[in-house]
Amino acid sequence: MQTYKKLYIDGKWVPSRSGGMIDVINASTEQVIGSIPAGVAEDADAAVRAAHSAFEGWAGMDSALRAELLERLHQGLVARSEEIARVITGEVGMPLKMSQRIQAGLPCAVLESCIGLAREYPFEEQVGNSLVVREPVGVVACITPWNYPLHQIVAKVAPALAAGCTVVLKPSEVAPLNAFMLAELIDEAGFPPGVFNLVSGLGPVVGEALALHTEVDMVSFTGSTRAGKRVSELAAQTVKRVALELGGKSASIILDDADLSKAVKGTVNACFLNSGQTCSAHTRMLVPENLYDEAARLAVEVARSFSVGDPFAGQAKLGPLISEVQRERVLDYIRKGVEDGAELLLGGTEPPEGLEAGYYVRPTVFGRVKPQMTIAREEIFGPVLSILTYRDDEEAIRIANDSVYGLAGAVWSGDVERAMRVGRRIRTGQVDINGGRFNLQAPFGGFKQSGHGREFGRYGLEEFLEIKSMQL
Ligand code: NAD
Repeated sequence: MQTYKKLYIDGKWVPSRSGGMIDVINASTEQVIGSIPAGVAEDADAAVRAAHSAFEGWAGMDSALRAELLERLHQGLVARSEEIARVITGEVGMPLKMSQRIQAGLPCAVLESCIGLAREYPFEEQVGNSLVVREPVGVVACITPWNYPLHQIVAKVAPALAAGCTVVLKPSEVAPLNAFMLAELIDEAGFPPGVFNLVSGLGPVVGEALALHTEVDMVSFTGSTRAGKRVSELAAQTVKRVALELGGKSASIILDDADLSKAVKGTVNACFLNSGQTCSAHTRMLVPENLYDEAARLAVEVARSFSVGDPFAGQAKLGPLISEVQRERVLDYIRKGVEDGAELLLGGTEPPEGLEAGYYVRPTVFGRVKPQMTIAREEIFGPVLSILTYRDDEEAIRIANDSVYGLAGAVWSGDVERAMRVGRRIRTGQVDINGGRFNLQAPFGGFKQSGHGREFGRYGLEEFLEIKSMQL
């Protein structure tokens, strides 16, 4: 049992004003593995006041000194990364080997890149008779989800601190243990009190209090489009800056000259990563009508190789979903897909065999999905792939862009120039060409209802900077 009874406010561990606790459940055993304080608005207020008081000193500190503290935090994070991977595998259910690389490894890499930025980013430039100065935006409230919990926290907290902002973190209440480990490491690294604060609790309670607070200058939010809209509404009352990283329904367009087997494999992998609980998952596979049979056969073959099982055991490629609620949501979508007339090629609503506990769902592939069907339009957040067909490149682009979302996507072709031409017309923040790798220096974020603002690299740092012109 990992029990955290206190919040981290103003450099101290303090009890919540509420006295209430929230249980944390292991996704594969359904057992309680920990608990955290159910923070309330008064806790959020105390944390914001601490961050506000700490702001001037932190913002005024030489960015090289801020980088040194971040460097110490990085050492701590690396030293505890095995433990962090195990905790997140328990909370989220991602197979341990993947967790080591992604859930624990990525935050270390993101932090390292922010240390480099703190040291090298040109915070000032001369433009004619003006000195243009980039200054920290102020107190930042970071509200984060559960699917890559520490990665999404570090993607906000590290650049915000590097920029000179002070932070109040409200992590997901579903996978929060890793956030407390981060707070312990921040405490050990010796950051000045109030620079980083952690208030756990429910979104409508702590998250809304932060979005509304007059002394919060910016909210950086990652989560569902529904909650992102609510945060924007509340933040608008004090004209806060808001950055939103929301949902997606990304399309992988396989052109007729692509290496079909490589493209299908890449698409299925990008759809099923973390049991499909990835905002940028490629959940719509678009194939030319005349290649449908072969593409569907290959997709089923690849999806079948996603063995479902205990994420700690070593063999499974697909762990459980995070929660009962999430499993029920995904099963409802599978039922809806069948009702709407899509062909169920693999998987379905039956629980996988031999797994008594855990929120498992079979890897599921739907064929002959039409663009207007619910499973082609809504974010499912489970291991469910939809295969759609198109007649020519124009139609493929039209179908890919026919979404309220605009987060990510892929184009596969034997001709890179042709893939790039199609890629340029996709209205999303990311497009992977022939399986191009995730790049931590490149901006990540959405068009349309996938949000606004960018994370990672120089672009991520700039989210947390105000621009001032001083005329000489
Ligand atoms: P969620 O919106 O339920 O919760 C996200 C965070 O917001 C949590 O900390 C939650 O407590 C808080 N929250 C909930 N309601 C709130 C409210 N009314 N006011 C303030 N805060 C509130 O999302 P989730 O279920 O944790 O995560 C899954 C969603 O996140 C998916 O839609 C996914 O696509 C999205 N996501 C997007 C990205 C991205 O970068 N675009 C990355 C990961 C996840």
